[in-house]
Amino acid sequence: VRVYVPRDAAALAVGADAVAGALQRECAARGLQVQIVRNGSRGLLWLETLVEVETPEGRVAYGPVTADAVPGLIDAGMLQGGSHALCHGLTEAIAYLARQERLTFARVGVIDPLNLADYAAHGGWQGLERAARMEPAAIVQEVLDSGLRGRGGAAFPAGIKWKTVAAAAGPQKYIACNADEGDSGTFADRLLMEGDPYTLIEGMAIAGLAVGATQGLVYVRSEYPHAVATLREAIARAEAAGWLGRDVAGSGRAFHMEVRKGAGSYVCGEETAMLESIEGRRGIVRAKPPLPAIEGLWGRPTVINNVITLATVPMILARGAAFYQGFGMGRSRGTLPFQLAGNIARGGLVEKAFGLSLRELVEDFGGGTATGRTVKAVQVGGPLGSYVAPADWDAPLDYEAYAAKGNVVGHGGIVVHDDTADMAQLARYAMEFCAIESCGKCTPCRIGSTRGVEVIDRIVRAGADPAAHAGHAGQVALLESLCDTMQHGSMCAMGGMTPYPVRSALNHYSQDFGIESTTAA
Ligand code: SF4
Repeated sequence: VRVYVPRDAAALAVGADAVAGALQRECAARGLQVQIVRNGSRGLLWLETLVEVETPEGRVAYGPVTADAVPGLIDAGMLQGGSHALCHGLTEAIAYLARQERLTFARVGVIDPLNLADYAAHGGWQGLERAARMEPAAIVQEVLDSGLRGRGGAAFPAGIKWKTVAAAAGPQKYIACNADEGDSGTFADRLLMEGDPYTLIEGMAIAGLAVGATQGLVYVRSEYPHAVATLREAIARAEAAGWLGRDVAGSGRAFHMEVRKGAGSYVCGEETAMLESIEGRRGIVRAKPPLPAIEGLWGRPTVINNVITLATVPMILARGAAFYQGFGMGRSRGTLPFQLAGNIARGGLVEKAFGLSLRELVEDFGGGTATGRTVKAVQVGGPLGSYVAPADWDAPLDYEAYAAKGNVVGHGGIVVHDDTADMAQLARYAMEFCAIESCGKCTPCRIGSTRGVEVIDRIVRAGADPAAHAGHAGQVALLESLCDTMQHGSMCAMGGMTPYPVRSALNHYSQDFGIESTTAA
């Protein structure tokens, strides 16, 4: 009997190793033959540790399984797919998964992450094999035609970036993968690197063939030790099997890869600060121009893409640009792996085509709050993303539609708060986060964030104290002005976007800032 127990960090955090150990011991004691496969996570995080048993009908899911529950599960016939209170039936039929459109994450949780044969058996390397037979310009054109945009947050068309690097002259070019996934409530990059690392390797090798780069670096945040170890092992195995190295997939062209560990700073996720960090310096944002596509790593033309962007490329090459174009809406083509986090009943990863609404994600997939209370606020796009106005929760998730309302889709992180949340304190937290993480290069961000914390404190104090109401409106105006300065005067998104959560909290939840009470007074 084959049993799947995730080796993903989220599963390990809730005892997946202990569950695997208990299964092994219990089966040995009963003389039962089992093969335990340590897969990636299916992304149904509220069910971790999610144990799956292979049956003739498909895999049957049990979760959340603890080590203590293992003997009882075996007694109930788990190894034959038997029923139990923790049984959810066929994994693929669980509504949360069945309603998704898993393209980039098609293999995550399905395969043994480091098993090359398993990867190939599930469609792996088909994109690279095709790319190896194509002219570089044709590979770039395929990515352009797919409409793929950067999934790290900026949503810049990947093909245009690749075209710029392909056209740049230089004896050495690089592919730099940004895996410094620092946004609160995001974990898609990690889930993919731990659950299907060859997809990222394949995407980077295709990018190398397309633009003429022979070296790829993956900059992984230091908080992801399992992703680092998995990727390093996967790179070694892919190289030994001829998918990387001096002759990539029989193309006659070289592509080598290595992993660089981040230094634990949020701003190192900003592409130029990441370059500084890779080069061994402090992660401080570089002025642009020059663009990294022209002068990137060590002054050489460099493609910088996020994990999900690069990991989507193999599927585009394997199935064609038109297939990927068939998903999504407007200029937001394809799918995005949304990540549901915060106070949510069913947190996890939902890969869907652009166009669904926030309400569908939070209520239909997420099941509302974990506390069972009313959803009060939803922040989309990480700690620098807006709290989307409740009136817009039914709007389609799409880069342009969101931007038109002053919101961002970002890396697809969605953090939910219930009606006990104090939005003034969350706005204060955004300023405080910026003050802590600011690289210090420009004044609006370095100084503005500290002043922002102080102004919000004054607003809250004045709002709560009738004697101080007279100064309240002035402080709110000061906060607006400070947000303007930060938004338009900062060098990068850190300072430039911190006003998004602050302003949206102020606009949509003004009562938490004492604004109604002062207006009434
Ligand atoms: Fe550095 Fe902040 Fe300026 Fe960005 S906005 S360059 S993080 S000081």
